[in-house]
Amino acid sequence: MKKLKRIVVKVGTSTLTQGGSQLSRKFMLGLASQLSKLHENNFEVILVSSGAICAGKELLKNPSVDRTLPKKQMFASIGQVELMLVWKELFGLHEIHVAQILLTRDDISNRKRYLNARDTLNCLLQHRIIPVINENDTVATKEIRVGDNDNLAALVSNLVAADLLILLTDQEGLFTADPRLNSNAKLIPLVKHIDESIMALAKGTSTSLGTGGMLTKIEAAKRASQWGTPTIIASSKVPNILLELVEGKAHGTLFQTEITLQESRKRWLLSEKPQGVIELDEGASDKILHHGASLLPPGIAKVKGPFERGAIVHLIDSKSKLLAVGITNYGKDEIEKIIGVHSKKIEDILGYSYGGEIIHRTNMTRVKSKEEESLS
Ligand code: GLU
Repeated sequence: MKKLKRIVVKVGTSTLTQGGSQLSRKFMLGLASQLSKLHENNFEVILVSSGAICAGKELLKNPSVDRTLPKKQMFASIGQVELMLVWKELFGLHEIHVAQILLTRDDISNRKRYLNARDTLNCLLQHRIIPVINENDTVATKEIRVGDNDNLAALVSNLVAADLLILLTDQEGLFTADPRLNSNAKLIPLVKHIDESIMALAKGTSTSLGTGGMLTKIEAAKRASQWGTPTIIASSKVPNILLELVEGKAHGTLFQTEITLQESRKRWLLSEKPQGVIELDEGASDKILHHGASLLPPGIAKVKGPFERGAIVHLIDSKSKLLAVGITNYGKDEIEKIIGVHSKKIEDILGYSYGGEIIHRTNMTRVKSKEEESLS
């Protein structure tokens, strides 16, 4: 596995309650201390935490109400406050700040909102704050919800280009059969490719409190691996599990990636139809082609649209040669107002700023010429 820096850790309700009906503060204390150690060792950690609905029920002393969506959303909205309070206190013991981020599928599939979420997460990580993410249950109706936090964690891994996704659960990993029903079931330590036979192994298993069973975990691992992030499904019961995993000790099931993060991003950007074109001057063409730089306002010669913030655009040189493809932080009308100006002036001119880059280098892929391809 490549050197780890950015890690997404997901814990579901059954894990947070350790099989009980209430959040286990004791378990959460241990997990927060492991995550804090990783943080102190310079890893960037993002926690995807379920448990809001469970915490809401706990606070209202488990009233017996029907299971309609508004009731669940009521529990989620009450419980999310409690959940974050517990995380805030536990990480506070290590003098680490946490930030709450609530997402729905829309926040990730809509490219403008994708950029907003990505920028915020990156900013939090840069400021050494641990983002704690959950689905925005109170507004997430069927049409816009991810539905389970395993898949949400995979989407988040893609959003932040994580080096590893760890799904903590109450099982040791993926087995050749359901270990609770079959004593001959064997743990599968490594999955190189998630095919139908792997999916079939996970079907039919679930936990009583959480939304996801093994199947949603494998789905999540599949998504993550297609986007370049490996996944480990491991038991939360192993002492210091997170610390052991990052040290490279084998626990649970590791799902390898099918592609690198860079390659997956590149394929995605190149497969999308561009909504606009930005022509660069000579200096910017050189910086982007040979130095992997971001695109700043002074490097732009012309812009063709219409397109909005979040659009995929082609970057060309003065001879119309395609140099790169990227996701733009600014729409065409905005770019026209700031062409040529210093990045610091963006806010004065527009009245707001999404940052000094028109396209950040992490949102851009270079298009190599045939000659370069043959050399690499
Ligand atoms: N968002 C839900 C909660 O916080 C949990 C969803 C899941 O566990 O997959 O209660």
